[in-house]
Amino acid sequence: MPELPEIESLRRILARSAVGRTIVSARILEPRLRRKVARGFAAAIAGRRIETLARRAKYLILKLANGDALMVHLGMSGSLTHRPGDGAGPSKGGLSFGDKDDPLDFAHDHVELRLDDGSRLVYNDPRRFGLMKLVAAGALETTAELRGLGPEPLDTGFSAEYLALKARGRRVAIKNLLMDQRVVAGIGNIYAAEILFRAGVRPARRAGRLTRAELGRIAATVAPVLREAIGEGGTTFRSYRDSSGRPGAFAARLKVYGREGEPCYTCSTPIRNVVVGQRASFYCPRCQK
Ligand SMILES: [Zn+2]
Repeated sequence: MPELPEIESLRRILARSAVGRTIVSARILEPRLRRKVARGFAAAIAGRRIETLARRAKYLILKLANGDALMVHLGMSGSLTHRPGDGAGPSKGGLSFGDKDDPLDFAHDHVELRLDDGSRLVYNDPRRFGLMKLVAAGALETTAELRGLGPEPLDTGFSAEYLALKARGRRVAIKNLLMDQRVVAGIGNIYAAEILFRAGVRPARRAGRLTRAELGRIAATVAPVLREAIGEGGTTFRSYRDSSGRPGAFAARLKVYGREGEPCYTCSTPIRNVVVGQRASFYCPRCQK
């Protein structure tokens, strides 16, 4: 499942081909997603210029010239790719997430936006957990999906003081606190594990029991880990690739995630995997206290 670095990487790639272009027409090939694509969606976005491409948490937000915003969430397996006008193949300029190593299966194309230069933005989602929804730009912050989200981890609203406030008195595992979208937006299982390794804190520790110094180390580690991952185009394993089949390079930099039984790069102790909040949680029993 894509996390903040993957969506931010996608935003940067698509911005080059989509911002400033006008959506000439939209075609709904398969409306069934997490929620059905609304009736009237295609008519509402046709003729609109894409002013900016923004991101909030794991949502990609295309702000249109009439003030509407098109929210896109990739769910478990969705992709938004930029493709040439003719021929089915994706061009450079998209990222996909799926269980398969093989190229995009065009049978799962849901929505196609035709742009004024003849190219297309295509939303594809084999497992249909994604979302495409049009909202008025002024109503973005109060729309159901974004309402109640915590601050962006790369913004100044996220700090050691803020994390300490959110951790105070909480019995929840620190890893789950980091993954709680109401506390901080965009961090999932992979990056929570990597952040906690680099901060030297075990994932199952109760948030409310951490020292101020530990919370400070965690807060200070969040932005560097996410920025490094964005710089590498995100992470890959089987489930992540860009539309040209190129893996995100952060996979090579993972210190603990997916490395159960392999030696820690710092101390050679085998990496452990415990279940925290029903999710696999990787850590080094020596480097993390
Ligand atoms: Zn270690």
